[in-house]
Amino acid sequence: MKKRVDFSASVENEMRLFLPAKSVNEGMARASVAAFCAQLDPTALEIADLKCAVSEAVTNCIVHAYRDVEGEIEIDVKLCEGRLISISVRDKGCGIENVKEARQPLFTTDAEGERSGMGFTVMENFCDEVRVTSRLGKGTTVVLLKRLHK
Ligand code: ATP
Ligand code: MG
Repeated sequence: MKKRVDFSASVENEMRLFLPAKSVNEGMARASVAAFCAQLDPTALEIADLKCAVSEAVTNCIVHAYRDVEGEIEIDVKLCEGRLISISVRDKGCGIENVKEARQPLFTTDAEGERSGMGFTVMENFCDEVRVTSRLGKGTTVVLLKRLHK
């Protein structure tokens, strides 16, 4: 069991990005977050982890939250004291009925499509903690927390 990240640390730098939920913007979101976090001099592996987790969270907004509608994704990156990175990925889409179930490995509501139900598992494996809040019809916020090496 992973230890819950102490998130009382003060924010030292922050960036916010608003993007239309289009798959063409997924790479841009991933690269922008990585570029912003680069000021903390992360290892190549840490950057790869962050990119992968962001990619999964953003893709979920595009393919699930706004399945057949247009929408916006808000990404908020905070660099906090103690080399803690917080990346919040928020949509105002359909929401998740049962978050606990959605986070289970292999759970997907799109089994007939090309999805494998491993997005949340990937996020959890590449971050120290993943927090998900969601309201049906209102949207979902996924917060990815990762502490970089000293
Ligand atoms: P994969 O990520 O492996 O392609 P997946 O997207 O179905 O497949 P997860 O990313 O683990 O798997 O998500 C699990 C389920 O949670 C999704 O099938 C979807 O029902 C729901 N979900 C995830 N993110 C959102 C979101 N932002 N809005 C609405 N539903 C979501
Ligand atoms: Mg997914």
